[in-house]
Amino acid sequence: MIPRRFSVAMTKAIDETLTRHLIRSDGQEDLCLAMYAPSTGAERDTALLRDACLPLEGERKVHGNATVTGRYVLRVARQARNLGLSVAILHSHPDGCGWQELSDLDADAEASYAHLVEQVTGQPLVGITLAGRDHTWSARRWSAVGSAVDHVDAESVRVLGARLEVSWNDRLAPVPAPMPSQLRTVSAWGERPQADIARLRVLVVGAGSVGMDVAIRLAATGIEKVAVMDFDVVKEVNRDRLVAATRRDARLQVPKVDVAERACRSAATAASFEFDRHQLDVTSTRGQSTALDYDVIFSCVDRPWPRAVLNQIAYTDLIPVIDGGIGIDTFESGQMRNATVRTHIARPGRPCLQCNGQLDPAQVARDRLGLFDDPTYIERSGQPVPGKQNVAMLSASVMASQLALFVSLVVAPSKFGEPGPLRFSLTTYRLEHVQATTNPACIYEKLVAHGDQRIPLAQTVADTPSNGSMAAKAVVGLVARYVVALVRWTSRR
Ligand SMILES: [Zn+2]
Ligand SMILES: [Zn+2]
Repeated sequence: MIPRRFSVAMTKAIDETLTRHLIRSDGQEDLCLAMYAPSTGAERDTALLRDACLPLEGERKVHGNATVTGRYVLRVARQARNLGLSVAILHSHPDGCGWQELSDLDADAEASYAHLVEQVTGQPLVGITLAGRDHTWSARRWSAVGSAVDHVDAESVRVLGARLEVSWNDRLAPVPAPMPSQLRTVSAWGERPQADIARLRVLVVGAGSVGMDVAIRLAATGIEKVAVMDFDVVKEVNRDRLVAATRRDARLQVPKVDVAERACRSAATAASFEFDRHQLDVTSTRGQSTALDYDVIFSCVDRPWPRAVLNQIAYTDLIPVIDGGIGIDTFESGQMRNATVRTHIARPGRPCLQCNGQLDPAQVARDRLGLFDDPTYIERSGQPVPGKQNVAMLSASVMASQLALFVSLVVAPSKFGEPGPLRFSLTTYRLEHVQATTNPACIYEKLVAHGDQRIPLAQTVADTPSNGSMAAKAVVGLVARYVVALVRWTSRR
């Protein structure tokens, strides 16, 4: 059996609180505890640090090697259990640099609390070290089975703010070999950023006109692990936008993920390139848990329900979601009036897709009920189905803007991270910052780092209307009309 991968993630706000406590002005080591929520992917577990629980008077000793008291661990473990969370124990190596290997002394100290934490919370203890000189985090997860106590190392620790800062465990994720084909990329941003970017696991959801091109450029840049998720096949109607697909692909109705794999493999420059092909829908529970295995997600889907699922993951699971879309307006005569490109990164500290006006809850409800696949509904409602209009030449603008946001997030030129939501208007050629703000009451934004405690939005495939019987479909249709009427009624009030 392949062991499950393990990682740790936190927001920049938690990172700053912990750093202020752990890196002391007197240069001594310090320690503290935090609570984390588990986020369970298909192949990876992530501990999401939610709250820093700093020690009260007398709960830890600083002089010499910092030590924690049993009273402190028990207090935080009980608090964590009541919230369905578990405990991380953190300490600093003020003179440390890079990923810190565990000394015998540290291992003994952490192992001595592994049983207690697991007994009280039902979940494993996580140990974390902060190297003071270059701000590198390192982490491991303990398991206490019977009298045996053991640990597995994390592959990375991710800090998500305007930048995505990743501390890598070089043993589990070795620094990639520089390739002659990447010479010009490396000369643009340097070897260290290239090594950091190349190791990110990047998922592209939706292999349409935008997603396909995004994936190819990620592979060409030297990213070692690129994944594409799309359940659909290539049809003749896609060929005006899907430039990587051939006539033959359309005739044989080849899955879009297979076209993406072929194109990415031929564009890839990494010495060891891995392509993960997921012929899945992200609105299925399997699609959703697969998405949790990645460090960055490109949302290249136009339907509201998958975008809602990704919008949620950005906050609950601390995986930045780079989303974009294009709106094409036409006059009644059918002539083009304008095209508007909107791109943005959903993450804690920025408005979610719903708060920046890119996700309509009523449309999500219609999509969940399968109305956009129901010709009767489409005809009767007279409403456009999302994403029906698109032009290859313009979807390249969406792709370009999403990739530029990715560079701002992971390379941060001049230390500027991602700029917040953007809007580009084709008629006036103006690029604007969208004035949307975060909303603490928003159902997406208030559940930061909740992981597996997220509100269920994805469904097991057997539950989706499209797989149901005709009778079930008729019932769903009736319910759908009722829900839409209700939504219209409430939105009018
Ligand atoms: Zn130590
Ligand atoms: Zn929101």
